[in-house]
Amino acid sequence: APRLYFALFTIDQFEYDGCDNCESYLQMKGNREMVYECTSSSFDGVIAMMSPEDSWVAKWQRIGNFKPGVYAVSVTGRLPPGVVRELKSRGVIYKSRDTAVKT
Ligand SMILES: [Zn+2]
Repeated sequence: APRLYFALFTIDQFEYDGCDNCESYLQMKGNREMVYECTSSSFDGVIAMMSPEDSWVAKWQRIGNFKPGVYAVSVTGRLPPGVVRELKSRGVIYKSRDTAVKT
């Protein structure tokens, strides 16, 4: 499943370009409100992933099918329930990276 909000970009980059991994799901491009709802500026740890196919870190973090780029390891914040429901209806199971909240 696509990792939904931990690629490291500025708000403006997300609004301008959308997200390489989840644009087809979240449509953040040109939608600032959606960008604010689906991104977080609070995170810990950074992984720079250059070739996802043969990176053990990528496999370990379950981001092996993502585009090369810079990713956060954990994120504070969650997707809004409405967005999670929408994703689920399209077969995408959202896994929170919020390690501060144990569920
Ligand atoms: Zn994304």
